[in-house]
Amino acid sequence: MDSSPTMKRNGLGNVKDIHVKDSITANMSNTIREEASPEPVLDPELLESEMELVTSLAKLQKLEEMIHQLRTLLPERLLEPLAPIVNPKASTGTTVPNSPQKLFQQLSQAARAGVSEVSEFQSLWRGKDMKPVWDRIDTLIFENAGQLLQSSGMWEEDYGALFEELTKQDAARKEQEQKVKEELERSQLQSAEGGWKAIVDSFAQKNIPGVRISTTKSESSFAILLAKAGMSFKVHAIKAAQESEIPEWQVSSKQIAEPPSKLESAVLDCLNSRSRKWDLLYLLEMISSYSNMLQTTCIKCGSITDKAANLPAIRRLKATQPPNGPEPVFDAYHATCI
Ligand SMILES: [Zn+2]
Repeated sequence: MDSSPTMKRNGLGNVKDIHVKDSITANMSNTIREEASPEPVLDPELLESEMELVTSLAKLQKLEEMIHQLRTLLPERLLEPLAPIVNPKASTGTTVPNSPQKLFQQLSQAARAGVSEVSEFQSLWRGKDMKPVWDRIDTLIFENAGQLLQSSGMWEEDYGALFEELTKQDAARKEQEQKVKEELERSQLQSAEGGWKAIVDSFAQKNIPGVRISTTKSESSFAILLAKAGMSFKVHAIKAAQESEIPEWQVSSKQIAEPPSKLESAVLDCLNSRSRKWDLLYLLEMISSYSNMLQTTCIKCGSITDKAANLPAIRRLKATQPPNGPEPVFDAYHATCI
């Protein structure tokens, strides 16, 4: 079995000096660009292919490590319990078992551990993940007229560690992308005609059954009634620290006279702990996702009520949003199902 790391020279020489391409921020204004993290952003496509290569190499490296480990299995580790009997002087750490049964126990334990080590190696070697790696190596050998590829016999990197590093970079890239996108959305909203009232008006015009919006003269609040769910809320703007920024929105119970019910409190908690607090359309969609409260099933357990007879009061943004339409879509959960 040739365990040499034949893959390492293929396309990976430049892992450390991948081109830095600021494609995402290129179209943004200078202000946003200045606010963005000074860390360079990797080209997503390039990063993806590098990650593919690095994971493959990390797997090969792991297999090689296992092979070295397996070489000590026979005869050393498998027959270790016999060592003090065969050569009492040489074996220092272990003592002679005090009964044949004990010796048998030790030997079978060593055998079982050895067998599971071998089968772990085999399943990794033959695993679905390794198939493309072996295919690639076969192709290279074929192209090389059947000659095994020669390597220096040394790994140039710890590919497991490198993979972790790339994963971190990828996460940072996604976060930055998100930040830039949100910044842009905010500034678009800031300059939108009609301000927040236009957003509320156009939402009200959708006439979602069971959802009624009433605006007042107030410059900073409106009410929303969920008739079918028997709940009504007051939505009010929290003044932004800077005049030029768009406000964030908070929700409270409309009934001031009596304290909100347990269900209503849970709904309010969920609404007020949402992300994108400045995004009014997001909030309106989130509130209206409660309009059919009594018929809504939890996405996790599929029931309307949980064991303690609670309705699904939690809303989370659906993992895959519908491609057409800007409205966010939410999934319902019981607090006990998260
Ligand atoms: Zn549930």
